[in-house]
Amino acid sequence: MTDPILIVGAGQAGIKAAETLRAKGYDGDVVMLGDGGLPALPASAAVESLSERRDGRGTFVPATGGLFRNPPRSNLRTKTSVASIDPAAKCIALSNGTRLPYSSLLLATGTRARQIPLEGATLDGVFSLRTMADVAAIRDTLAKAENVAILGGGYIGMEFAAVAAGLGKTVTVIEACGRVMERSVAPEISTYFQTLHRAHGVTLRLEQKVERLTGETSVTGVALGDGTQIPADLVLLAVGAVPVTGLAESAGLAVGNGITVDAYARTSVPDIYAAGDCTEFPSARYGRTIRLESVQNAIDQAKIAAGSILGETQAYDPVPWFWSDQYDAKLQIAGLSSGYDRTELEGAYDEGRFALKYFLGDRLLAVDTVNAPRDHMMARKALAQTGPDSDGTREAAA
Ligand SMILES: Cc1cc2nc3c(=O)[nH]c(=O)nc-3n(C[C@H](O)[C@H](O)[C@H](O)COP(=O)(O)OP(=O)(O)OC[C@H]3O[C@@H](n4cnc5c(N)ncnc54)[C@H](O)[C@@H]3O)c2cc1C
Repeated sequence: MTDPILIVGAGQAGIKAAETLRAKGYDGDVVMLGDGGLPALPASAAVESLSERRDGRGTFVPATGGLFRNPPRSNLRTKTSVASIDPAAKCIALSNGTRLPYSSLLLATGTRARQIPLEGATLDGVFSLRTMADVAAIRDTLAKAENVAILGGGYIGMEFAAVAAGLGKTVTVIEACGRVMERSVAPEISTYFQTLHRAHGVTLRLEQKVERLTGETSVTGVALGDGTQIPADLVLLAVGAVPVTGLAESAGLAVGNGITVDAYARTSVPDIYAAGDCTEFPSARYGRTIRLESVQNAIDQAKIAAGSILGETQAYDPVPWFWSDQYDAKLQIAGLSSGYDRTELEGAYDEGRFALKYFLGDRLLAVDTVNAPRDHMMARKALAQTGPDSDGTREAAA
């Protein structure tokens, strides 16, 4: 009898891979192992649920449909942490010591919230936002909080700011860079969202260094490098995520900024595949190795991984896309803009309905839209039609 296909991680990528195996007609055993750290998804829905305008139930977790209803052919084990992989013996060990053999292994272990060495980070009232457990933990404190401080002006920080401001909290976002979402969008987009947040009463403290969080047992404030004290009874640490690669590293798989896979989602070790946030992969389209944190990537790369496990040879080279909802503004991003040398604005910026195109020379690299979903879809189509870079221009942009 063939050993099962094992999937580590019951998030977006893991579930899509299992679904795809079945959709492609695989009828052998599939076992998915998840440690219970269910991701809070999407960000907008997760933070929105904190406002209690939604109940949050069933909103975040990708549906497994009928996939796991007929054990033992398909078996979903939640609250099961995988401790190690033995590639030579083709088996894994669970944290309780049980060993399970595999025919193929898919690692879909995602990311965890970045931790920073910061005095006061363990005080009550200080949170990260990654899993449903985080959402549950934040909810009660947020309901009672008056002053909310957010460390980090990226997507999660700014979405959380919008929700907290909507609840009437006094909100301060503290960001080390000179503008919000600086790493992924142009100044025009940052400026638009900064204006929007300020109009909703949010204070933005840009180019600020945080010295420490203050308080005895519960957090009472944030001490900034310039000597300012910001009162806070809830602090959200929204300073990014890191790929979960420990299992892969200990098993001797190649790991860089994520588990290294090729265009077929194959790791450096035979019969072990990886997909989703935890991977770095070669992008022919952008001429470099990339790691993405997005639902699009988790789902599309998982489909490729499932195909590869079944012997297919379809390469993965996506047009990445992402979204972020803040107040009534829907930001949608198609493509990767890094390396652009000019932008073009189309539409009604002052009315909050526009597209910003990023170019390198004449080449369209990416398009950000605000409240313009049709333009976003057209941008995805246009970007998909531009094939891998032929003259090295994109590589230079990396
Ligand atoms: C708050 C928040 C909001 C987001 N909102 C958006 C959004 O609006 N749009 C968007 O495109 N992207 C969004 N993202 C990013 C998106 O969540 C991820 O890109 C996506 O979930 C990645 O899927 P994944 O399957 O790779 O990883 P995950 O969904 O994180 O799943 C990985 C799973 O593996 C489990 N695991 C890890 N190690 C082990 C182990 N040893 N044993 C067993 N299980 C293990 C983890 O607990 C986790 O459940 C958001 C992320 C966060 C944190």
